[in-house]
Amino acid sequence: MPKDQTPTGEYEIFERRESEARSYCRGFKTMFKKASGSELTDDKDRTYIDFLAGCSSLNYGHNDPDMKQALIDHISRDGIAHGLDLHTDAKSDFLKTFEEKILKPRGMDHKLMFTGPTGTNAVEAAMKLARNATGRENIIAFTDGFHGVTLGALAATGNGYHRGGAGITLNGVTRVPFDGYMGENCDTTTILEAMLQDGSSGVDAPAAIMLETVQGEGGLNAASTEWVQRVAELAKEHGALLIVDDIQAGCGRTGTFFSFEKMGIEPDIITMAKSVSGFGLPMGLVLVRPQHDVMGPAEHNGTFRGNTHAFVTARVAIEKFWSDDTFEKELAEKEKILSGAMDELAGIVGDTARLKGRGLMRGVDVGSGELAEEICGRAFEKGLVVETSGSDDEVVKILAPLTTPTETFRKGLDILLEAAREVVENHKTAAE
Ligand SMILES: *Cc1c(COP(=O)(O)O)cnc(C)c1O
Repeated sequence: MPKDQTPTGEYEIFERRESEARSYCRGFKTMFKKASGSELTDDKDRTYIDFLAGCSSLNYGHNDPDMKQALIDHISRDGIAHGLDLHTDAKSDFLKTFEEKILKPRGMDHKLMFTGPTGTNAVEAAMKLARNATGRENIIAFTDGFHGVTLGALAATGNGYHRGGAGITLNGVTRVPFDGYMGENCDTTTILEAMLQDGSSGVDAPAAIMLETVQGEGGLNAASTEWVQRVAELAKEHGALLIVDDIQAGCGRTGTFFSFEKMGIEPDIITMAKSVSGFGLPMGLVLVRPQHDVMGPAEHNGTFRGNTHAFVTARVAIEKFWSDDTFEKELAEKEKILSGAMDELAGIVGDTARLKGRGLMRGVDVGSGELAEEICGRAFEKGLVVETSGSDDEVVKILAPLTTPTETFRKGLDILLEAAREVVENHKTAAE
């Protein structure tokens, strides 16, 4: 996150009345007023290219015209705005579309459990399902994993700053090194295997193994297909469910609807949120194989389970982008552009730089949080909103809307490269 630029004047209300828990706003000192596609506009009519995209909640950009129109129509005809989990036409239409366009073509028999409308609530539900389905308590999660900040999910989150906020012991999770955590030459699944096999490893038989295929908040660590497959096998061998937290990496971010689609695995449980509504509306969703769908009615209750407005836009998003492979092909093209730009960025930063991520979820570890912050800060001055990720915020992370027109995409990347050149140049001059 770019350095806190203490707000003054018109920003003073935020300082005075908004909790210190606010975060992203500290780095981007302006008053956003409008957004369309991949651009944000502030109250001075300055436009910014948005490479943050609500942290991958806006994979289809801001205010997609078709989703917007469907929502306006729904509201205009007094469609249900809030319906608890009653049967509504909006939910029925969403379920049918999701079954037809997402589940059936992928041969998935999963059921849909609507949770409270946040990612962390979906993760809570996933963990409960696994524990109830197996009668076991322990859940294996990985170093640098991020799964949300409510207590159950926070126990599975690695980040010490977030964990510290709990103020209570976080239980029920065993931590294992993620792919690459011990360096390139260590296959960490051998550690997992040894611990699961050994009755004296101190690791209780797990209810589930939970992972992100690309760790979004944890620094864009992308697991290899072989690694994920081995983890899936170990889960099966040891009677644990496989949970893929696809909240950030899903909905096309890695180039396919689910991030694990090309890995040949079949997760028992999948969590989704962020871009699942398509429009940036809150929505949490758990996909669970029927045999593990063990929560009783209202056992994982929530007043806002599902979100009728989100059902409307989520249905349009799937119809519009996932009815055939046109969008996927566009993503593959964009991935090439992004990957080329990341090579360039790494070249500018120099030997210490490391390429991170996969698909359209890529970035560069520039070696320090300070440098990453400086680059993002400079980019913002030049009209680009872009953020950092990783345990020390050391990764410059690109999460452009997947729908960004090629020209805008290139323009945003050029701004970023220019910002990086200037910052690196300044450092060189200062050192001389
Ligand atoms: C963002 C995120 C969450 C938490 O979602 P919230 O809506 O912020 O609660 C969980 N898991 C992953 C992988 C995420 O990226």
